[in-house]
Amino acid sequence: MVFDVIVVGVGGMGSATCWQLARRGLRVLGLERFDIPNSMGSSHGVTRIIRLPYYEDPAYVPLLRRAYALWRELEQATGRQVLHITGSIDGSPEDDPLFQGALRSAREHDLPHEVLTGDQIAERFPAYRLPDHFRAVFQPEGGFVASEHAIVAHVQAAQAAGAVIRAQERVRDWQVSPAGVKVTTDQGVYHAGRLVLTAGAWMDELAPLLKGVAVAERQVLAWLQPQMPELFTPARFPVFNLTVAEGRYYGLPIFEVPGFKFGRYHHRGETGPAESLRREVDCEDEALLRQFAARYFPQGSGPTMALRACAFTNTPDEHFIIDHHPDHPEVTMASPCSGHGYKFCSVMGEILADLASGAGETRHEIGFLRWGERRATAA
Ligand SMILES: Cc1cc2nc3c(=O)[nH]c(=O)nc-3n(C[C@H](O)[C@H](O)[C@H](O)COP(=O)(O)OP(=O)(O)OC[C@H]3O[C@@H](n4cnc5c(N)ncnc54)[C@H](O)[C@@H]3O)c2cc1C
Repeated sequence: MVFDVIVVGVGGMGSATCWQLARRGLRVLGLERFDIPNSMGSSHGVTRIIRLPYYEDPAYVPLLRRAYALWRELEQATGRQVLHITGSIDGSPEDDPLFQGALRSAREHDLPHEVLTGDQIAERFPAYRLPDHFRAVFQPEGGFVASEHAIVAHVQAAQAAGAVIRAQERVRDWQVSPAGVKVTTDQGVYHAGRLVLTAGAWMDELAPLLKGVAVAERQVLAWLQPQMPELFTPARFPVFNLTVAEGRYYGLPIFEVPGFKFGRYHHRGETGPAESLRREVDCEDEALLRQFAARYFPQGSGPTMALRACAFTNTPDEHFIIDHHPDHPEVTMASPCSGHGYKFCSVMGEILADLASGAGETRHEIGFLRWGERRATAA
């Protein structure tokens, strides 16, 4: 069978892309080397933060608005809840780029928000214990996406729209000729008009021009049982991003695992090929994370409930890479991670479907994410 588009990697981004392509009536094949969903890539660990006052760059906010709308569309299409609203806290010392960036995004995009001090946060959300000189943007629409549920929902919606999805089938190679794209897996050969590469931490294997540009990094997530679990429920515990003396951390309320969840960006700085990243966790991982909870969430630092390793794929400027392959316009590459990509899966699916169909253009403003333009500037 010949397909219109083959999507390699059916994780967060690939599953959304399969749905967006299939609902346009295209013949889609999604190929995944592990299970759907799996715990080998970047999207496991139950939940991912979604937040609007984007400290990384205000240019992400229009994409986020569309991401929210598409998450809701997915819920309607499948009858599964994936988006949970808790509010978000983006906090740090006042002059830190995290607070300043969140405030700038909130103001530029007219987002409802409040600025709170450390003490005001503790009054309103008693699980938090931040120094009073901290400033935070509280934004009521923040929350989390149930990431593995969302992959399942995207795949089911794609299948219902006619997509063929195959797990436990690893793509070994792809080639482009005037006849189209040929994809070779460990089980067979497939042909299509276009190819989308959404291989997460393995992007540089399939697109070698991204070697040294999209670099995998080991992360560890912790879930600790709170002494007062009622303070850590989605109704009383906004998701957070915080820069504290020990580094930059993120966290979420209790959901499915019986503990509040958090992690440290760039954890212990362990980078390397995805294949070689350590998947086990050890006492040093646990100790590093427990210190943070004991200091800033003392009611949350009870027994450990779970520790899981996961992978970031970082770019040098920590912005995503979304672009056509420079040598093959039929091939679209997507590396939307650097530790903050999941919330965008729904809209990335739409953008990648735009780029991989029709004239290969998108109405979304993604100039700042195009690799071609950044590579040219860097050169
Ligand atoms: C610990 C942690 C916490 C995070 N927290 C947040 C957060 O709170 N909010 C947020 O927005 N983002 C967060 N992120 C980032 C976010 O999770 C990632 O941006 C997102 O999961 C990337 O999705 P992906 O589709 O690129 O990768 P994946 O979901 O990993 O999908 C890639 C898929 O490609 C498959 N694949 C690879 N090679 C091949 C091949 N040769 N053949 C077939 N299949 C292949 C893999 O098996 C994998 O399933 C976090 C990431 C981590 C690791």
